Amino acid sequence: MEAAVSTIAPTFPSGADHVRPLPTSWLVPASRGETAMPDRWMPESLRANCEEQATPVSFRVSYELAGFPGDPLVVVMGGISANRHPCANQADPGPGWWRDLAGPDKAIDPRSCRILGVDFLAGPEPDTDSPAESARKFKVTPGDQADAVAAVLDHLGEGAIHRFVGASYGGMVALEFAVRYPPRVGGVVAVAAAHRPHPLGAGIRAVQRAVVDLAAAGDREADGVALARALAFTTYKTSAGLDSRFSPQNIESYLMGKGREFADRTSGRAFNTLTRSIDLGAIRPEDVSVPVSVIAWKEDLNVPLWLVEELVSRLPSVESVNILSSDAGHDAFLLGSGAYSAALQAAVGLGAPRSSPARGVKAPHNLVADDVATAAVRTGVAADPAYGAVMPPLYLSSNFQFQGIGTEPEYDYTRSANPTRDHLCAALARLENGTGAVATSSGMSAVSVVLSLVGADELVLAPHDCYGGTHRLLTGLDRAGRLRARFIDFTEPGRLREELSRGPRMVWVETPSNPLLRITDLAKTARLARRIGAITVADNTFLSPALQRPIDHGFDLAVHSTTKFINGHSDVVGGAVVAADRGLLEEVAWWANASGASQSPFDSFLTLRGVRTLHARVRQHEENAAAVADLLAGHPAVARVFYPGHPGHPGHEIAKQQQKGFGSILSFDLKGGREAARGLTDRLKLFILAESLGGVESLVCHPDTMTHAAMDPAARRQAGITGGMLRLSVGIESTRDVLSDLESGLDAC
Ligand SMILES: *Cc1c(COP(=O)(O)O)cnc(C)c1O
Repeated sequence: MEAAVSTIAPTFPSGADHVRPLPTSWLVPASRGETAMPDRWMPESLRANCEEQATPVSFRVSYELAGFPGDPLVVVMGGISANRHPCANQADPGPGWWRDLAGPDKAIDPRSCRILGVDFLAGPEPDTDSPAESARKFKVTPGDQADAVAAVLDHLGEGAIHRFVGASYGGMVALEFAVRYPPRVGGVVAVAAAHRPHPLGAGIRAVQRAVVDLAAAGDREADGVALARALAFTTYKTSAGLDSRFSPQNIESYLMGKGREFADRTSGRAFNTLTRSIDLGAIRPEDVSVPVSVIAWKEDLNVPLWLVEELVSRLPSVESVNILSSDAGHDAFLLGSGAYSAALQAAVGLGAPRSSPARGVKAPHNLVADDVATAAVRTGVAADPAYGAVMPPLYLSSNFQFQGIGTEPEYDYTRSANPTRDHLCAALARLENGTGAVATSSGMSAVSVVLSLVGADELVLAPHDCYGGTHRLLTGLDRAGRLRARFIDFTEPGRLREELSRGPRMVWVETPSNPLLRITDLAKTARLARRIGAITVADNTFLSPALQRPIDHGFDLAVHSTTKFINGHSDVVGGAVVAADRGLLEEVAWWANASGASQSPFDSFLTLRGVRTLHARVRQHEENAAAVADLLAGHPAVARVFYPGHPGHPGHEIAKQQQKGFGSILSFDLKGGREAARGLTDRLKLFILAESLGGVESLVCHPDTMTHAAMDPAARRQAGITGGMLRLSVGIESTRDVLSDLESGLDAC
């Protein structure tokens, strides 16, 4: 009975340490702002010699504070390309620079501490000087950055911070902060960071600045920054790490792409000021009186192990040292591996927030069995607190009552959250083995919400034969300048590796593909894409979670048109996104609520009703489809069958490994071409000529003139779609009826 009550009005464990319910928007609350540096403050370089003559300069510093009032404060600072936005939050739902390490259920969890991010000081505002001119006037030291953090703390009325977590350049700033403001910091976590530069690094940075100055003098500042940054990227990974991803032929396009991306958001002045600042770092570790935790990588070329050892040997108070290994080299500090996350979480010292249930992400609660098939049948069942209804009731209400001003009801408005939709989401999350799910008004709105995670200058790699609607949306967004899309053949050997050198933000796959049932290796794709930190998405519509679970193979998101197998009765249009981790789930949920893509309660109710029978339906679908595939393969009117269950299918082996079954969509080519296809579809009685798929009823479709008619004819031919091709969605009618309908139709071909 206890479980029953928590279904509709989940209560969050009260009094438990550092556990927070997620707020209405599903993102932690946050604020952003800026403050001026104190009145008489000036950069150290001016202070040192010409204090009186120095022209007054006005520096401003911007910050972002995410988390719940009263929680311990953790400052995070990253390398020179980082900024005040480490993770998605209410003030800025966009992905942050530390999305793998900061965020709900990450090493630094904003439900257990407040996260303060600060923009680096890069010069006075406004400033129109060239990088060289600016450098002549003043330099910004890591100590100046530490002063900027102190200024933000004063502005916010904060006394001490629990931990200062600094990675790379940010680690230098953290150590400086501890030297200057020992009573204001409980401890420093230095990640891939050292107390001083070393000659190789300083030498490369000097060359970089010379490139920027030279380019700026020729009015090509941005090109200079791009080149300088490209040079830096040669040392961010190990040589073995580079070798596993690139060839000598394509490394250039990767480096230049990275450089240009950086130059789009960083001025030459900021770049030169910050790289010089690293070289001005000169902390005496003996002066750091607070405890320091050190995390470093053996393979880091920028912050080599010998330098980290020097730091550790000279620090008076070392809390912990973690030396990790990764062929990502210096870049490893941005990527959240298990060992690294655990070390960082331990160093921050706030423990793991116990995972709390939240709207849209509730776990099924009254299950006696572990099996997902049981979860599909039983999520939300026998859990009605009002009347003890066995099946969860349908809440159509658009709004929910507040108990009084200042109270927050569990549900307030149906676009944001609705109990009926939450039951569906809980079931889908369980089926796909994700943290949570978001249900949307259509498959395409699910696709659209996921694409909201990609920024304007960021690249999406998608299959050249992806679902037509997805192709159209990606192309449209690309044309409108909202993202960049590239369509590639994922089954071409070596192609993905090559394309990943472009640094895509998102890798989108669809397997099996439509209508040729081509198979993409999920585990391999996830592994390669993860190395460069791309978000991986699999459109899992064709198989449903009953037969394939992309998250189990390392994918971040599984997307569905629930219109198809999940609802399965061809009477609802709907979609869903299931996320492997809570950070991405929150971002997706935020966009679904903000853009109004949420599924209606009634459609959610019907879809959940469909989910109940998913596994039973899929069994019958599969049995019929296998029989149909055999019939087609042995029939003289058929030239070729595309069905991954046949050993001759090029994707058969991978399908066998990553799928629990071969599904019930298949295509075939008729020897008689277009005329034969027309004749057969006219003769079929059970198979209805219609688009869509995955319903209980058997359907036949002519891709050339129906589902794929919008493709230009050349692309259609290239994809292998002919006039004589038909695609079947084999339903769950009796096997005998399905076979006899097809057989008599084919015999007359
Ligand atoms: C149908 C389909 C979609 C689009 O879903 P809608 O519910 O029609 O918006 C996306 N991907 C695939 C693979 C589909 O079959």
